[in-house]
Amino acid sequence: MTKELIVITGTSSGIGRETALAFSKKGHPLLLLARRLERLEELKLPNTLCEKVDVTELAVFEKAIEKAEKKFGPTGCLINNAGVMLLGHAHEQDPKEWEKMLDVNVKGLMNGVHAVLKKMYEKKKGTIVNISTIAGRKTFPQHAAYSASKFAVHAFSESIREEAAAHNVRVVIIAPGVVETELLGHTTSDQIKGDYESWKKEMGQALQPKDIADAILFAYSYPDRVCIREIVIGPTRQGP
Ligand code: NDP
Repeated sequence: MTKELIVITGTSSGIGRETALAFSKKGHPLLLLARRLERLEELKLPNTLCEKVDVTELAVFEKAIEKAEKKFGPTGCLINNAGVMLLGHAHEQDPKEWEKMLDVNVKGLMNGVHAVLKKMYEKKKGTIVNISTIAGRKTFPQHAAYSASKFAVHAFSESIREEAAAHNVRVVIIAPGVVETELLGHTTSDQIKGDYESWKKEMGQALQPKDIADAILFAYSYPDRVCIREIVIGPTRQGP
């Protein structure tokens, strides 16, 4: 039997990249999305379409999915992974950074859901995996806008899961703790970046992107009748 199409956003690095490798190993056709197209193409995965897509642009996002579905059939699973974390103190952070996180982490993810949900309902089958974070369940200092965006991911996902249940469509939230990726690099405050790195060092071992890819694969691999609603996964030595 041919495997179903998996659409993954933010596959040019970190968790998304590792998830693409994991699903490809299982023989799935893939649609890989990110803005750095060359990083997608250099993976050279079989049965894979790579498209330069900014998830905040709904029309471009939808067009890429249409193109992939023509080639590989309907989307079996959408993994909304693209995200940005710009840490900052609320009184001094540029509100443009807040806007960016809300645009990418919330609206970008909503765009993905919009692009696939109706067709999944028609098929009475499909899985949407939304990547949140432990900071989407509890707050941390310097994380105000990031947490706000990821609390929104939790609320949006859970609400949709309640609607999607009647259509036999699964909505899964993955909420990781600290993972070793490029994510912190976009924060503009050197002091916050330094403090975060020290916290990680104290912790000893952060999660690796593969740990999250494995969790996504685990949730997806259950039979259709089982919806893993949420996986919260952190480094053993991460306290809060
Ligand atoms: P990375 O920075 O390594 O990867 C982020 C990915 O998102 C990149 O591929 C980037 O691609 C993509 N991206 C960012 N903005 C856009 C955009 N506008 N349109 C399309 N793609 C975009 O970080 P992670 O792998 O760590 O992050 C993946 C997800 O995991 C995020 O949602 C993050 O919040 C979440 N997470 C991460 C944790 C961590 O500690 N690392 C912990 C908990 C959750 P490009 O720039 O090429 O467009």
